[in-house]
Amino acid sequence: MTKKVEWDYIVPIKMPADLKGVEAGKLPDNLLRPVKGGGKLHWRAADAWGAMKAKATLDGLVLKPTSSGDLYRSYESQKTAFLQRYRLDPIPNASTKTFEGKTWYLRKGMAMLATPGKSNHNWGLAVDIHSASEFARMKWLVNNVKDFGWSWEVLSEPWHLRLVTGDKPTPAVIAWVESRKVA
Ligand SMILES: [Zn+2]
Repeated sequence: MTKKVEWDYIVPIKMPADLKGVEAGKLPDNLLRPVKGGGKLHWRAADAWGAMKAKATLDGLVLKPTSSGDLYRSYESQKTAFLQRYRLDPIPNASTKTFEGKTWYLRKGMAMLATPGKSNHNWGLAVDIHSASEFARMKWLVNNVKDFGWSWEVLSEPWHLRLVTGDKPTPAVIAWVESRKVA
């Protein structure tokens, strides 16, 4: 019997139109917005993140990224992280990735990482949530992420959320953006 995972809400991603013609990990500054606490996100994701964080605060829950590098990642920073975790020298039974036409082997004890340019972090649309698996936090996330346009991407990463609503923010995000204009 397989144990049901709580965070099994995974829907296809819609990309914001202004990312067309842009290279992953090479977003121009006008598409990025600094996020409170450090790091940057695509402006659509920054709105959705701000709105969701505000709701979490109201509910008495601390919602923050694992680190400022776990929001938008430039191509170069993704490459640096990738090279720390993978090597060209073969490792028996290791998980592999293809990058720049070569096979790379995951070093022992390292977590898998998307190849540079292949992660939704490179589009500024993904956030890794600090202590996502803690019971109260996961329960809150399961009940709330959809309202703000987020979904999980893979079952193996309960901390990794990406914005899936493209240029159609949810009513809760629109309301939060409007409330900030008035204030
Ligand atoms: Zn992630």
